[in-house]
Amino acid sequence: VNHVVVVGAGLAGVRTVEALRGRGFDGRITLLGQERHRPYDRPPLSKAVLKGDADTSFIDTDLDALQIDFRPGVAATSLRAGVVETTEGELPYDGLVIATGADPIRLPGDGPQHVLRTLDDAHELRVMLVPGARVTVIGAGWIGAEVATAARRAGCAVTVIEAAQTPLAAAVGTELGGRTIPWYEGIDLRLGTMVESVEEGGVRLVGGEFVESHVVVTGIGVRPAVEWLANADIDLHNGVVTDEHLRTSLPGVVAVGDCAAWWSRRWGTRLRVEHWDTALNAPDVAAATLMGEEAVYDPVPYFWSEQFGHMLQYAGHHTEADRLVYRGEPEGKWSAVWLTDGDTLAAVLAVDRPRDLVQGRRIIEAGHRLDAERLVDPQVPLRDC
Ligand code: FAD
Repeated sequence: VNHVVVVGAGLAGVRTVEALRGRGFDGRITLLGQERHRPYDRPPLSKAVLKGDADTSFIDTDLDALQIDFRPGVAATSLRAGVVETTEGELPYDGLVIATGADPIRLPGDGPQHVLRTLDDAHELRVMLVPGARVTVIGAGWIGAEVATAARRAGCAVTVIEAAQTPLAAAVGTELGGRTIPWYEGIDLRLGTMVESVEEGGVRLVGGEFVESHVVVTGIGVRPAVEWLANADIDLHNGVVTDEHLRTSLPGVVAVGDCAAWWSRRWGTRLRVEHWDTALNAPDVAAATLMGEEAVYDPVPYFWSEQFGHMLQYAGHHTEADRLVYRGEPEGKWSAVWLTDGDTLAAVLAVDRPRDLVQGRRIIEAGHRLDAERLVDPQVPLRDC
């Protein structure tokens, strides 16, 4: 491999570049980034940047020292074997990394609608979060909850509209999501409510009601950013399909981060995880694969969220068949664990209990069985269950 092209200059793209150099790759690397910014981290956008505690979140990396041809403001538009078509012409490659992340889903309607994916989105939104502003957040998932946190803190009059019966329902289920409802104190939380469209001056609900708003923020999820691959001869299904080595169906092409759906040996299923830890750690495996080395990506997925003064951390992968067990009461610090029918740990969600997260993640990695009766006592460390 002489020339590697990396499409997408987010965390996954940048980490792949670093991993290639770290593994001794001394050929050419071209990094295409559709945005005009230097690579930056996204988690602070809905936290420190939105609150005004930070203006940027640039990734600490020296692309010059790594001898990368970084092209900000250049997007890939299509792919055929050996050639990436870009907004600035054709780019032949020997190795290709697809790291284009994900795009927010928008709702119908002509009214102004904010999303929160980019640094520019965060800057646009934060100047609008002023005391008394009527802010409507659509979606009570991870992003919606964090935006609502910032808006309430800024003194806005916040409405959150959620189609499911509880916040976080899609991610962790309604039973657990229900435990977060009291956190929305002072917010007009409308559950089981569908938005029809975003209009001038507010949001039209299914059924006709109009929720007047100065600011509307849509946080209803993302889609893998793979439209540019629509005509390429590459397997796409809920993102770019890869094997456990992050290899796609096209020779010499790997995929990483939010856009990649990889085969997990551990879970016996394909996973696509839209979280920071995957963008941080999968690239080393992608780089190894590109260089013809043997490497497998098979993590216990991890993510966190900071909302309403709480730190939520999740590790693992659960399904509806797993049994939910709580450790601790909803008013305090608590955790939830999902047990398989063999009493091994499938996943853990810790609310202000970082030790449960760390120990739980290790237990999942080791595949140990737990004693469900000891588990329910939050005083007993998870590792002693
Ligand atoms: P991205 O960061 O999306 O980077 C992809 C890049 O590719 C983008 O810059 C995009 O412009 C570019 N691109 C797309 N298409 C093209 C193209 N055709 N040509 C060239 N370039 C292209 N995760 C957590 O675990 N915890 C958190 O608290 C958390 N908070 C978050 C808060 C916000 C506001 C957001 C948006 C995400 C958050 N995440 C969090 C998720 C985490 O940031 C993502 O999982 C991570 O950014 C994924 O990295 P990536 O490199 O795969 O994709």
